[in-house]
Amino acid sequence: MRIGIPYGLFYFYYYPLWKTFFSDLGAEVITSSPTCRLTVDAGSALAVDEACLPVKVYYGHVRELCSQDLDYLFAPRLVSVEPRSYICPKFMGIPDMLRAQVPGLPQLIDITVDLSRSDRYLQQDLIKVGRMLGYKKSAIQEAFQHALEENRRCIQIASQGWSMAEAIKIWDGNLLEPPEAGDLSIGLLGHGYSLYDEGLSMGLISKIRQLGCKVHLLESLDAERIEMEAATMPKRVFWTLGRKIMGGVINMNKREEIDGIIYLACFGCGPDSMIGEMAERYTTGKPFMLLTIDEHSGEAGMMTRLEAFCDMLRRRRRVDESQFPAYG
Ligand code: SF4
Repeated sequence: MRIGIPYGLFYFYYYPLWKTFFSDLGAEVITSSPTCRLTVDAGSALAVDEACLPVKVYYGHVRELCSQDLDYLFAPRLVSVEPRSYICPKFMGIPDMLRAQVPGLPQLIDITVDLSRSDRYLQQDLIKVGRMLGYKKSAIQEAFQHALEENRRCIQIASQGWSMAEAIKIWDGNLLEPPEAGDLSIGLLGHGYSLYDEGLSMGLISKIRQLGCKVHLLESLDAERIEMEAATMPKRVFWTLGRKIMGGVINMNKREEIDGIIYLACFGCGPDSMIGEMAERYTTGKPFMLLTIDEHSGEAGMMTRLEAFCDMLRRRRRVDESQFPAYG
């Protein structure tokens, strides 16, 4: 059995889990190539205009996988990945949108992941998929436990300062050179599938590192501390990623070694329009920059803004400008 997993959306959080699960059940897992201009163009041509950039890019990856002679394409219907919190509603419609808009689509494995109340339905769906691959219930449950362990191992790698995309490469057995320590420290936030996808984000993390900055990401912060910080907000953010981002902003804002915070938002993203705004308001006393990208954004424009931001951070260090507000 050849099962395709697109290199987009929750790939950056759960690829080790699904790869391990399907491999343990004897399937060959195929992924699309890393995002490039062609992926963005192919996805934009297929998706509805109202879709956000990461969803368009996901379509581009699905399009690539359609030509790979697959038995199945894995496109889960994600509703919630933890109790009392939800994922952006765009994830719920992914299998239906793909069926309606992508010609030549392989058969979909579209299990529903809704852990908002219990994992009962997920377990039922996993058993169904495992049986389809010819395995017994006990072997399927064992494969899923192993998959959860592998995913935790990947998150543990990311906690050492790697982005999730880098952690996945290391988890997959690649050796990566550790990034050089810079003279500035920048907290970088946003949805992981836009931030860690080098093609979609136009190499944002690498560019910041090239400018002599150490990048602090959400995964390198203590997960419990993030939850505690997020709980100090007057109203609970019910989006899983949005809540973690807000906990991360509050935490980074308190840490003296972080010189400034950058938030990457995607055009067409409803949650970003709110979380980006709140992140800016919760960043007090540190410079904050909101970068918004879409399928037409160019690298030169982004580089200019990053250079200007880093120059300003260095000038604030050299000259005592601490008496001026971070907003000029
Ligand atoms: S949170 Fe924003 S970027 Fe993510 S899928 Fe939803 S609309 Fe798109």
